[in-house]
Amino acid sequence: MAKLLIVGSLAFDAIESPFGKTDKILGGAATFIGLAASQFKLDPAIVSVVGGDFPQEYLDLLADKGINLDGVEVIKGGKTFFWSGKYHNDMNTRDTLVTELNTLADFNPVVPNGYKDADVVMLGNLHPGIQLSVIQQMEKRPKLIVLDTMNFWMDNTLEELLDVIKHIDVLTINDEEARQLTGEYSLVKAAEKIYGMGPQFVVIKKGEHGALLFHKKEVFFAPALPLEEVFDPTGAGDTFAGGFTGYLASTTNISFENMKNAVIQGSNLASFCVERFGTERMQSLKKEEVDERLYQFKALTQFNIELQ
Ligand code: AMP
Repeated sequence: MAKLLIVGSLAFDAIESPFGKTDKILGGAATFIGLAASQFKLDPAIVSVVGGDFPQEYLDLLADKGINLDGVEVIKGGKTFFWSGKYHNDMNTRDTLVTELNTLADFNPVVPNGYKDADVVMLGNLHPGIQLSVIQQMEKRPKLIVLDTMNFWMDNTLEELLDVIKHIDVLTINDEEARQLTGEYSLVKAAEKIYGMGPQFVVIKKGEHGALLFHKKEVFFAPALPLEEVFDPTGAGDTFAGGFTGYLASTTNISFENMKNAVIQGSNLASFCVERFGTERMQSLKKEEVDERLYQFKALTQFNIELQ
């Protein structure tokens, strides 16, 4: 089975949306990526750090999904990363209220020996220095390195971010952040500028408006499924990334054509994530539900205009 190495935060999140408010619940980029990727036949592992306050039941939940946790360091006296966000009425924009890095602040990631030859590496949103360290620990160049990031790292660690971006194949980023990174309003021009930074593929996520995949002069668009209920978009981007990389790793095909399918798989899984607060929906998600919704995705975008 193909190996997928995931690095990212394991976190406590506190979320406010027009539909309610949560106390500290399970969150973190690696959590959402892992839960999404575990929908595919592969061998996933997480590299991350938590404090002694992180409940064992959260670790068990991930392990029960078949995710290897040898690379998760538990710092007994330390506190787990904490993030809090508040969504506006449109549910597409949010304010970050709190980011407490805690144990993530001086994290030195250690890639377990069994995953130094991983086929695909998914560098989830965290400090770019940590992302680079993971790349440097790989024994051979993975077939695909995907990196996700956010404005927090552009604001605070831009030089290091540009440095790690040189080494990756795919950058996944949201539309506002692509504009911030490149200074270009047009997403086509932004993608072209990002090619110049290193990656050959760029995925620009547009929340409820879907996602764009750019490669050379080609572009592919995947809509987001119009949903009756959106409770909490937290983790949708990470779930997308987990679906995208999980599918690519499990099919061992990293062509542009297969990446189009991967974008659909990522969008499909993200559509479930937002239906409940935090990881709730992803925890119970069944393969049959995933497959059924793929039919809806196909129906949403298929048409029969005859072109001459
Ligand atoms: P998303 O909604 O896909 O952008 O991801 C939200 C998740 O990212 C939450 O579960 C947070 O715990 C995590 N997160 C937010 N900010 C950061 C950060 N600066 N570093 C690492 N993880 C973060």
